Amino acid sequence: MKVLVINAGSSSLKYQLLDTAANNVMAKGLCERIGIDGVLTHTGNKSEEKYTIHTPMGTHSEAIKAVIDILLDPEKGVISSMSEIDAVGHRVVHGGEFFSDSCIITEKVIKAIEDCVPLAPLHNPPNLIGIRACQEVMGPNVPMVAVFDTAFHQTMPQAHYMYAIPYEYYTKYKIRRYGFHGTSHKYVSQQAAEMLGRPLEDLKLITCHLGNGSSICAINRGKSYDTSMGFTPLDGLPMGTRAGNLDPAIIEFLAENEKLSAAQVITILNKKSGMLGISGVSSDFRDLDTAINEGNARATLAKDMFNLSVKKIIGSYIAEMGGVDAIIFTAGVGENDRSVRWDVCEHMEYLGIKIDPEKNKYRGKQMDISIDYARVRVLVIPTNEELMIAKDTERLVKEMAK
Ligand code: AMP
Repeated sequence: MKVLVINAGSSSLKYQLLDTAANNVMAKGLCERIGIDGVLTHTGNKSEEKYTIHTPMGTHSEAIKAVIDILLDPEKGVISSMSEIDAVGHRVVHGGEFFSDSCIITEKVIKAIEDCVPLAPLHNPPNLIGIRACQEVMGPNVPMVAVFDTAFHQTMPQAHYMYAIPYEYYTKYKIRRYGFHGTSHKYVSQQAAEMLGRPLEDLKLITCHLGNGSSICAINRGKSYDTSMGFTPLDGLPMGTRAGNLDPAIIEFLAENEKLSAAQVITILNKKSGMLGISGVSSDFRDLDTAINEGNARATLAKDMFNLSVKKIIGSYIAEMGGVDAIIFTAGVGENDRSVRWDVCEHMEYLGIKIDPEKNKYRGKQMDISIDYARVRVLVIPTNEELMIAKDTERLVKEMAK
């Protein structure tokens, strides 16, 4: 099946055309500056060449039209008719408590995504615009599927997702832990089960999605059991620019002393904190490594804080699940940064966790990096959210056709 995967932001739109039978990316690209002028960067499979095209994109519909045009282009494209696109999979950030799985998009589904806008005011509106734009350009006969970042975590027990604030705020506003990166956690857990040659339903896994945004998930017998991001992606680990969890009293203290509104403090916690805020150097782990090598103490401190937080969450999830069969590292940092993996797993031999320093030298490659006799396997698995979206889309479209 040929599935067009769409990830729409407020002024950008990422796309991939995937052939699910061959797990092959036929073409991919990015529309930027939508509503300003319009730049399309595209790579097709026929040639590895990257094309940059300046074309007016006043709206997301015009961006989708530009994507379809380039996919159909005899020289730069990969298909000869729009009818070759069997389905569209849309990444949607927040599905609230409505969605515990991906689903075929209907008017009722669109209404439920709209109802989740208060929970993700920056993300769900552009996701909805992307859906409407595709419907407008591609017509009513192309099946479309919504794949939610939150859906995978809907299996968490209530004691794991509640915040200890007055219960009525849960019933009134649905304030609770939702968790994000669900598509990535689900994908790497399935890959891990394949690598281990065991059914997912028999496994206790801890998946560490460590990138610019980071979250960890305890996956108990195939189901999300706990996760570190919360009501918003700000919770949990310190990240590239996000603070992670902290004493909420700090918010009022900062607001008063720095003469800021609560919203301004939250912006600082989202955009100026984490690795950037502590190091003063960068949010990028590669830049931190360069600074650490030059003797920068604050860059060292930032990375130490990150590694410690990952270790603490892994420890708590082992306690919650009563053990762990495998720990999985994924995303930019998890796949590439050997020092993070090493420091996180150091001194955990007593739990059966021990990395092989030779195997840990590899990066960006799917492999088992634990020493042979370790009871717990430590795996590096490159994530592939687009492929997971395409596979979910294929599954639901096939089910619908039955
Ligand atoms: P992501 O959000 O998954 O794209 O991850 C982005 C982050 O991965 C970047 O901010 C980098 O800090 C990190 N990263 C990417 N490549 C490397 C690498 N070779 N070594 C260390 N960190 C890396």
